[in-house]
Amino acid sequence: MNLALWLHRAARLHPENPALVSGFETLADYSAFDRAAAGLGAALANEHGIRPGDRVAIFAKNCVQYLVAMYGAWYAGAAIVPVNAKLHPREAAWIVENSGAVCLFYTREPGSGLLKLPEMEAVSAIDLAGEAFGALCDHAPLAEPVEQAAADMCWLFYTSGTTGRPKGVMITHGNIQAMALTYFADVDSVHAGDAALYAAPISHGAGLYNVMHVLKAARHVVPASGGFDPAEIFDHGRRTGSVHLFAAPTMVRRLVDHARASGETGEGIRTIVYGGGPMYLADIVEAVEVLGPRFVQIYGQGESPMCITALSREQVNDRGHPRWRERLASVGVAQSCVELRIGDADGKALPPGASGEILVRGAPVMAGYWNNPEASAQTLRDGWLWTGDLGELDEDGFLTLKDRSKDVIISGGTNIYPREVEEALLTHAKVHEVSVIGRPDAEWGETVFAFVVPAVGVDLDAGELDRHCLDAIARFKRPKDYRFVAELPKNNYGKVLKTELRRMLEDNGVNG
Ligand code: AMP
Repeated sequence: MNLALWLHRAARLHPENPALVSGFETLADYSAFDRAAAGLGAALANEHGIRPGDRVAIFAKNCVQYLVAMYGAWYAGAAIVPVNAKLHPREAAWIVENSGAVCLFYTREPGSGLLKLPEMEAVSAIDLAGEAFGALCDHAPLAEPVEQAAADMCWLFYTSGTTGRPKGVMITHGNIQAMALTYFADVDSVHAGDAALYAAPISHGAGLYNVMHVLKAARHVVPASGGFDPAEIFDHGRRTGSVHLFAAPTMVRRLVDHARASGETGEGIRTIVYGGGPMYLADIVEAVEVLGPRFVQIYGQGESPMCITALSREQVNDRGHPRWRERLASVGVAQSCVELRIGDADGKALPPGASGEILVRGAPVMAGYWNNPEASAQTLRDGWLWTGDLGELDEDGFLTLKDRSKDVIISGGTNIYPREVEEALLTHAKVHEVSVIGRPDAEWGETVFAFVVPAVGVDLDAGELDRHCLDAIARFKRPKDYRFVAELPKNNYGKVLKTELRRMLEDNGVNG
């Protein structure tokens, strides 16, 4: 089934529901949204020769036209290639070329640099803010979306590995339908009056979350800043109301800091789904204290988008269960449509309490990597997705992540999970942020090294943190050294770049 059918049906049932909202201004109701997408779909087919299975790239900042372009491409049976707007034009051009996209939608920033590159000569480029885009949407519309099977690709998402070129993850209409329906079962409900607020990039998982809101004919709101601004988000809570947003843990941290400083309570924000990186126990406890029961956690990856485990609102708020702390530090339990296993090196299931690689099987798991059979065969084995994440299940099925396999520190032959050390350091009142990595060491193989961002205006020294760790974790897990920094290097989704921290250590020689 073509996902665009959800838009088509929503428009027939709720034509007058507000659909596309820019800042505080409604630009289209569901009837107009569907009409524009169906027109664009027809124009892509008739004027740009797009056939089912073709790829259409989008290299754009968050804007409401992004959603029109996405559904227009789906109407025509094409898959979209969402390109991270923060990429260098050369990186973006590589993705456009690798995907074989024949058409590109862009916004001036960041697209202009890309258009000058020779690789782009054969690609038709359409400015989402230009008149030509409006004219395409006004084309005589397709009566219905082109037929698509569950196995047909709709979203070719490039994931940046730690080495080499990014790989195109082939996500199908069936994958996204499974993700969306499971969302209703495990994460949250959506109602027509709700508003999906796009504070994180639409080119990533946060953008995929539009489909549940289309299905329920809810509003899609792109904040005027086009991105993440805590004051603006609280403002939308109050003025737009019934807001739903996806936020990476660093965004949650910034919302909480802003709320503490400004007295904001989160009024009008219905749900904040967090995920995409580790949320520390101390941070989520504080977030619930300050902003209330608005949080749900998901764990997923590009290869099983937004859909591996979930920690429900009730579980996030539970302070009564004897093991609520462990549960809150976990990523929750398997989402309804996936099987989850901790695998040994051969993929055999390990018992509760044992650490191993997280394997996932089920409807949301990707079809494979685009034109990359070796990588596909390495990652999809015997029907299981090998996530590259390490974790541990408890007796009740709660999954705790133990870092990605490459992040584990092996010191004197013992595995140390940076996350545990980070959790311990974060319970110190003077620590604002922290990231722990392994430093090469001739004697131990690696030793534990902590980068610490102290809270504003405090004096903090390594001795104080060492004493704190002695009270909280095994001696051998304590950082051997610390470096105090003003901020941690992060990518544009707010994930700490451990590779960059390792490079900072190398640049400073063995003494850090
Ligand atoms: P990406 O494919 O870019 O979305 O990155 C996915 C990776 O982010 C996963 O494989 C995990 O390592 C990490 N991740 C995603 N969600 C969570 C979460 N809730 N807690 C901790 N790490 C997460």
